[in-house]
Amino acid sequence: MKIGNYSFDEYLHLVKSFHGSLAPGLVIGGFMVDLALKSLPEGELFDAICETPVCLPDAVQLLTPCTVGNGWLTVLPFGRYAVTFYEKYGGEGVRVYLDPAKMEAWPETKAWFFKLKPKKEQDARRLFEEIREAGEKLLSVQRVRVRPETLRRKKMGPVAACPQCGEAYPVRDGERCRACGGESPYR
Ligand SMILES: [Zn+2]
Repeated sequence: MKIGNYSFDEYLHLVKSFHGSLAPGLVIGGFMVDLALKSLPEGELFDAICETPVCLPDAVQLLTPCTVGNGWLTVLPFGRYAVTFYEKYGGEGVRVYLDPAKMEAWPETKAWFFKLKPKKEQDARRLFEEIREAGEKLLSVQRVRVRPETLRRKKMGPVAACPQCGEAYPVRDGERCRACGGESPYR
């Protein structure tokens, strides 16, 4: 059993060092990315979409050249456990998602995913054993076509110095930068 170019245990090791902990979602995410990549034609350039910011983006960043920083990975705040890889010009792609119907055969995984038990009652060992055994059996694959407006990368456009903080910001945001406009995360 391999996840990308790694053995299962090598992948777990990578997850721990990159993500800081061995999150079950990231182990399943490894199988998801692996299945998606296997379902794509070779030799084309792909971008990725994660439909949740939780865990899954790290599986994409560990196993593919797509990262948030290079713009090849888009993270959507939908909270759906799904990842799509698509041909970056035409938009033809493959979407892999964690399928609740298939989780029926894997009770510990279902209990974890749907938060059916408090964390301290979860059997972590059994959960990881299930995930390892189930792998792709928890997943479903769809062919998708990404909308043209999503394919076009959003350019920053003209830049100016904000009259309030003096830092550079994209002019399309208005008279001042968004932080000075009230969206600053700092007190
Ligand atoms: Zn400002």
